[in-house]
Amino acid sequence: MNELLYEGKSKNVYSGPDADSYIIRYKDTLTAFNGEKKEELEGKGRLNAAISNYLYEYLAKNGVKTHLVKELDETSVVVKKAQIIMVEVIVRNMAAGGFSKKYGVAEGTELKNTVIEFCLKSDGLGDPMINASQITAIGLASKQELDGMIGQALKINGLLCMLFLSAGIKLIDFKLEFGRCAGEIILCDEISPDSCRLWDAATGKKMDKDRFRKDLGGVVDGYREVLTRLKNVKQV
Ligand code: 5GP
Repeated sequence: MNELLYEGKSKNVYSGPDADSYIIRYKDTLTAFNGEKKEELEGKGRLNAAISNYLYEYLAKNGVKTHLVKELDETSVVVKKAQIIMVEVIVRNMAAGGFSKKYGVAEGTELKNTVIEFCLKSDGLGDPMINASQITAIGLASKQELDGMIGQALKINGLLCMLFLSAGIKLIDFKLEFGRCAGEIILCDEISPDSCRLWDAATGKKMDKDRFRKDLGGVVDGYREVLTRLKNVKQV
């Protein structure tokens, strides 16, 4: 058995098959509000692994460098060892969640331009928002790395919006994490209904972690529908 290196809220990280890789295992645990709300939802880990792997393969085909090496089983993947940049990159296409609350903009309001936000990746501090000059000032990332992450985030947003729309889903917002690997910045972590807001394009029905945050029920069903719809898309 590989050695458990890090126990996360929704994933565990194990030593990999070689010195340059890790194994990540997706868990059924779902948490919200910085871990205050927590539940085990059978099948959630498997669905997130399948959705994230599908999206990372699609992004890689379209020129995005990611940490994904290969799928091991239904919940485990081999990933490249990267030094995680302790900044969460949030991309928003429509107002929702923290943005709506903070700025008093009704959920679902169209935004005149894509919003990019940064948060410090720190559970202890509650992932506070941080700006570019603060990030470079405390050495979390260089200006060049930050510009690279913004460029990648916008590219990923364009690709994902297109893909989700062909699945009848609107990509409202999502969170990305990047890491340094062999002199490059690569996409790490996951992209799944745990880290995105996904609404049915026709009805506005939520198909993401907001079903859990807001006690709407049908969390796993929502995630399953995202996967089913993605698998029915004919990729270009
Ligand atoms: P908000 O700032 O509105 O709470 O979140 C914006 C988007 O980023 C949402 O899709 C949310 O799920 C995602 N997000 C923000 N912070 C985190 C986080 O710490 N973990 C995960 N999994 N997703 C996050």
